[in-house]
Amino acid sequence: MNVLVINCGSSSLKYQLIESDKETVLAKGLCERIGIDGSCITHQPAGKDKIKTELPMKDHKDAVKIVIDKLTDKEVGVIDSLDEIDAVGHRVVHGGEKFASSVVIDDKVLEAIKECNDLAPLHNPANIIGINACKQVMPGVPMVAVFDTAFHQTMPKKAYLYGLPYEYYDKYKVRRYGFHGTSHDYVSERAAQILGKDRKDLKIIVCHLGNGASISAVKNGESVDTSMGLTPLEGLIMGTRSGDIDPAIVSFIAAKENLTAEEVINICNKKSGIYGLSGGISSDFRDLGAAADEGNQKAIDTLEAYAYKVAKYVGSYVVAMGGVDVIAFTAGVGENNCQMREMIVKYLSFLGTSIDSEKNKLRGEEVILSAKDDKIVTMVVPTNEELAIARQTVDLVK
Ligand code: ADP
Repeated sequence: MNVLVINCGSSSLKYQLIESDKETVLAKGLCERIGIDGSCITHQPAGKDKIKTELPMKDHKDAVKIVIDKLTDKEVGVIDSLDEIDAVGHRVVHGGEKFASSVVIDDKVLEAIKECNDLAPLHNPANIIGINACKQVMPGVPMVAVFDTAFHQTMPKKAYLYGLPYEYYDKYKVRRYGFHGTSHDYVSERAAQILGKDRKDLKIIVCHLGNGASISAVKNGESVDTSMGLTPLEGLIMGTRSGDIDPAIVSFIAAKENLTAEEVINICNKKSGIYGLSGGISSDFRDLGAAADEGNQKAIDTLEAYAYKVAKYVGSYVVAMGGVDVIAFTAGVGENNCQMREMIVKYLSFLGTSIDSEKNKLRGEEVILSAKDDKIVTMVVPTNEELAIARQTVDLVK
């Protein structure tokens, strides 16, 4: 089966066409600046160079049409016609408490996704636009929604309730949901596979350290806790997000800087994290690493604060699960940043794990970093959210 995986943002659309039997990517790409001047598509057929083309896209429907044109193009295409797309898998950010697993999209499901818009006002509406655009361009092709929140729906109440008046949970469903669920699910499953074990017999901590970052505790195959909350702002220090802060800081800064609460939250989302903490050096760990190597104290302090926070979360999840068998690093930083991995694992050595400095030099590969007789396996497992979405889509439509 050929599955088109779609990840829609408010002005962007990422896609991958995946052949599900051999699990190969036939082509992938990205539409940017949809609805804005200078919209363009970057398309890459497997094994070939990227081709960037400026093309007007007034809305997501235009973008989907252009994606189909590229996929079926005589020169850069990989299929002959639309008929060769058997299903579409959509990444949907927030499924609230309504969706604990992926689901085939029909009108009722679409309505239920819309009801979650409140919980993810920046993401869900864009996901819905993407679904509707695909429905228009590819009528009759089955579509599946795969939710970032679904994997974490197994969390127990004690992990998802905040210490707030209960009525806010009752009335507005204010609680921890967690995100990156597709990645936490895929990586924990793959980690168990690599070790030749059943995930049901393991306690795994997945550190998804990308631009957005979250940690999860996966016990016997189920997420029992995770660091992101009602929104992706909670938890670790991220590229531009603050992660956990004292909520009173919001009104404190608002008063001092003459801002609204919403403006301060915007700063917490877009101008904080390693970018803000380093005094604006960069939200990219490579730049921060380079600055630290040159002795920039703010960069050094930022990286130390980042590693410390990750390690603290790992420690708390060891307690949450009553132990840990596997710690898995994934996403941009987790897969590639050897120094950061080393800084984090240093804190964890007393638990019974270590890092082999030679193996730790590898980037973006599945590798076990700890020693054979360590009590805890520390490893790198590159994530593949698109493949996970394609697999779930196939499972539901075949
Ligand atoms: P997103 O959340 O946007 O998907 P990614 O998972 O791609 O983010 O992670 C982006 C982060 O990964 C960036 O901070 C980047 O610096 C880091 N990263 C990517 N490649 C490397 C590398 N080779 N060395 C160090 N950091 C890297």
